Amino acid sequence: MRQITNHLPTAELQALDAAHHMHPFTTNDALGKKGARVITRADGVMLTDSEGNEIIDGMAGLWCVNVGYGRQELADVAARQIMELPYYNTFFQTTHVPAIALAARIAELAPGDLNHVFFASSGSEANDTNIRMVRHYWALKGQPERSVIIGRKNGYHGSTMGSASLGGMAAMHAQGGLPIPGIVHIGQPHWYLEGGEMTPEEFGLMRARELEQAILEIGPEKVAAFIGEPVQGAGGVIIPPSTYWPEIQRIVDKYGILLIADEVITGFGRTGNWFGSQTMGIKPHIMTIAKGLSSGYAPIGGSVVCDEVAAVIGADEFNHGYTYSGHPVAAAIALENLRIMEEEGVVEHVRDVAHPYLAQKWHALAEHPLVGETRLIGLMGSLALTPDKSRRVPFAAEAGTAGFITRERCFANNVIMRHVYDRMIIAPSLVITPDEIDILIARATRALDEAYVQIKAEGLLKAA
Ligand SMILES: *Cc1c(COP(=O)(O)O)cnc(C)c1O
Repeated sequence: MRQITNHLPTAELQALDAAHHMHPFTTNDALGKKGARVITRADGVMLTDSEGNEIIDGMAGLWCVNVGYGRQELADVAARQIMELPYYNTFFQTTHVPAIALAARIAELAPGDLNHVFFASSGSEANDTNIRMVRHYWALKGQPERSVIIGRKNGYHGSTMGSASLGGMAAMHAQGGLPIPGIVHIGQPHWYLEGGEMTPEEFGLMRARELEQAILEIGPEKVAAFIGEPVQGAGGVIIPPSTYWPEIQRIVDKYGILLIADEVITGFGRTGNWFGSQTMGIKPHIMTIAKGLSSGYAPIGGSVVCDEVAAVIGADEFNHGYTYSGHPVAAAIALENLRIMEEEGVVEHVRDVAHPYLAQKWHALAEHPLVGETRLIGLMGSLALTPDKSRRVPFAAEAGTAGFITRERCFANNVIMRHVYDRMIIAPSLVITPDEIDILIARATRALDEAYVQIKAEGLLKAA
């Protein structure tokens, strides 16, 4: 077979991609006709495509490249680990140094008594682990009927059968027979679109109390756990009102159910603390981690488990695990990534430099005629596109139409911003500098300007 390299013409690469590569979350026929953008290199926060365009990555890949692209230290560690021990399993009474060291380091960083790590290769896998772990925990405690897990509409916990069932993405549940039994969803704390006449604080309390209502409806003796992202990511960077998490914590404590914080995005500095649970002031029994754990340089995730749950699970054989649980190369890369984060003070950079600077620029976009609100926590932000700045109201057009147009204008202006329906979201690398933030905002502003003109011209500037 002919070698396929960066040097082939873009059109040829796109044709091969269309012929053989099925993309996730994509209408592949339409993409095949249009041609996918071919990313060839990256350094820092900048991507290069096969046409030589330099694109600023406002999404850190998929919320994961926290220390930026092109890190020599991570490449070196990977090469060394591959030569020393590229693979060994941890199933049959064996272990290895990268898994030991990474688990110990995560236990040090994680708050409270979250001292135990069950490794997976992704966030989805880790959440599947969580489903089985919390149900088995209650079974071992003599309460096998405690099996219902409560999640949230528009929550995102991954794409496997289990994790997509925990999530509340309607478009995902519509395909493949989801959700699996024993999962219940309550409303999300999305004040901008769903808060009506309530203040954000009233609305946050109301949505948190849906958890108590659900527990009482199901029967408290049947509920195993509640799972939530400290800040919803894929759902549109929905930052909950200040009243929300304290009330969730109160309810979880009152009924003695387990709290799972899905920190796949919010973990490892994204919100300005090591973990989003610290930012939100909650005490989970289990945290799901992935993405930023290795800054995306290798696929690795896991469940960080508190002493009590680990002790109960540890008393029996847990019939669960992945070939690549604690993969030595991925673990070595993750460990080095955490060393870089600590040595360079990346969390402090987010809190003291990047967040305050971006906040000033991001919130200034609220003046734009197409923008209804701007939200930012740490380095995850969103803005609502609006047909009418005077009220919180969706577009008359199908949800996502304005967002898609705006995303296309971002692409054309060499800035990666994603859209979730009609919200634009950003989550840049945590090492982004003020100068790079200026580039990001300048290009985003141009994209918004062009999107506004186009949305108006197409007669889409109408409220529902
Ligand atoms: C991305 C994500 C997941 C799934 O992680 P994968 O590595 O894609 O399987 C789970 N939870 C949250 C909050 C995520 O953002």
